[in-house]
Amino acid sequence: MLCGLKVIILTPLSPMKYNTLMKNLHNALLLKQLYQLKQLGYTYTSVSPYKEDKSTLILPSGFEALRKQALECHLCELNKTRQKVVFGEGNIDADIMFIGEGPGASEDSMGRPFVGRSGELLTKMIENVLQIKREAVYITNIVKCRPPNNRVPTPTEAHTCQPYLLKQIELIKPKLIVTLGATAYHYLSGEETTMTKIRGSIHQQDNYTLIPTYHPSYLLRNPSAKKEVFEDLKKVKALMEQI
Ligand code: URA
Repeated sequence: MLCGLKVIILTPLSPMKYNTLMKNLHNALLLKQLYQLKQLGYTYTSVSPYKEDKSTLILPSGFEALRKQALECHLCELNKTRQKVVFGEGNIDADIMFIGEGPGASEDSMGRPFVGRSGELLTKMIENVLQIKREAVYITNIVKCRPPNNRVPTPTEAHTCQPYLLKQIELIKPKLIVTLGATAYHYLSGEETTMTKIRGSIHQQDNYTLIPTYHPSYLLRNPSAKKEVFEDLKKVKALMEQI
């Protein structure tokens, strides 16, 4: 104790932590510049988001470290309105991943994906049709923070969050990915299309098979589309039996 003087001891950062910090700072500054350009009337477009493989965001290659980094993420505007980051949950050795659009109100308050009404339906789809436990698959979203009023994530939000999703896929190494709704399919495939056209089709990506189907919240509004999702999931089940 130095006569009431507060002593702060600074410990040096490891080179790896320092680089990560600097990269993230660099990204935050870039983001700020993009927002300034947006205010001047510029719009942001990307022809093929998935093909953008040169990410400047350095991410850990351990799953838990990745989760921790995402929980502290402040790289896009959604951090200002979120309650909790919804990183994803389930089996990190799963053969199958389900990817939705972004957390809703229940997910935002609980920090878990698909726990509201659409989550109940997704759980039934997995457990009744695929006949596997929800905990056996991995579930996440394109963006890990709730867009205000459940709006569709902006391209900037989706692209900023994309490295987390790509790293999750890289680490889990699923054989099958089921995208739920047009947004999830768009950001994973780079293709902008309607669900009516694309649902139930099978796409061979580099390391996994991608099958798009309707989002459960669409099914809550249009229960007659459940039979199409049932058909899509039967295909998923058949593919699961082959792997
Ligand atoms: N809708 C989504 O796309 N994801 C969730 O986690 C919940 C609702």
